Amino acid sequence: MNIVIVQNLEKAYGNELAVNNVSFDIARGENWGLLGPNGAGKSTTISIIATLLKPTAGDVLVDGYSVTREPAHVQPLIGLVPQDVALYPSLTARENLFFFGRMHGLGGKKLRIRTDEVLEIVGLTEQAGKRIDTFSGGMKRRINIGIGLIHKPKLLILDEPTVGIDPQSRRHILDTVKHLNTEGMTVLYTSHYMEEVEYLCERVGIIDHGKLIAQGSREELIRLVGQQEQVDICIEGLNAETLNDLRHMPSIVELTYENNRLSIATTGASRILSTVLGKAECCGNRVKSVEIREPNLESVFLHLTGKGLRD
Ligand code: ADP
Ligand code: MG
Repeated sequence: MNIVIVQNLEKAYGNELAVNNVSFDIARGENWGLLGPNGAGKSTTISIIATLLKPTAGDVLVDGYSVTREPAHVQPLIGLVPQDVALYPSLTARENLFFFGRMHGLGGKKLRIRTDEVLEIVGLTEQAGKRIDTFSGGMKRRINIGIGLIHKPKLLILDEPTVGIDPQSRRHILDTVKHLNTEGMTVLYTSHYMEEVEYLCERVGIIDHGKLIAQGSREELIRLVGQQEQVDICIEGLNAETLNDLRHMPSIVELTYENNRLSIATTGASRILSTVLGKAECCGNRVKSVEIREPNLESVFLHLTGKGLRD
């Protein structure tokens, strides 16, 4: 059975639907990504899964338990890492972990061992005795992840854990999440950064205006946009005849030539590149640059919504 089953979830605020009929499943051990721009409904969706918010309609089953009818069964299964850091600033990192561990009913030697494990996982063993108010934003985020892990949840939910932090902490967080997932933990990762979701997640749901507009593996989603690669070549002086020749090549889907820039949408950049360059250079024109862009989740989002992921 899937560890998470989201069934026709809906959350209304007044007349607005923050979550609009969202359904998806997460398999055990999977790293599932929820990708969408600001205001799309990511935090609302995961708050319902983590039993912090009640849905207006629909339900979620976590390991078979309903978040609406059996929240007390769901809570111990989930480690939620919220976007806003929830820590006691005047306590040390270790004391914060102790505190949250006790809230989960842990104590004694068990809690001390688990705290050391968690400090190791998030890479803060050395800083364990320092007060949180001396920590950088990135370190606070990392200890926050530690708090989400203290009770060994089956499902770790992270709400945009890398927003506004330094690149080194970001790298560390991505590696930690990847590692946890490799070790068997199920992860629900939300972000508006396409690269993070592409790097971490086996399957992705794309959310916009409260609706899940597509879901699947990266490859499945890219197939939606026709798997086209984009080739951009900077070259002066191409004539109409050459352009016409190129346009008739079978792998070229679309071709434009403006301001000395030849832009080609193709089903196989590697297949066409030498021919295109040969034809383009044959009349003494010189290629100044060539850029090949593979389709990615950003192109999928653009294709589905007509806009980019970032405002
Ligand atoms: P995301 O996490 O993807 O940025 P949210 O789930 O926070 O999006 O918000 C989705 C939509 O619901 C937004 O339009 C937001 O303004 C609205 N919203 C969120 N929480 C509330 C609330 N408590 N009251 C009214 N509207 C809300
Ligand atoms: Mg959010």
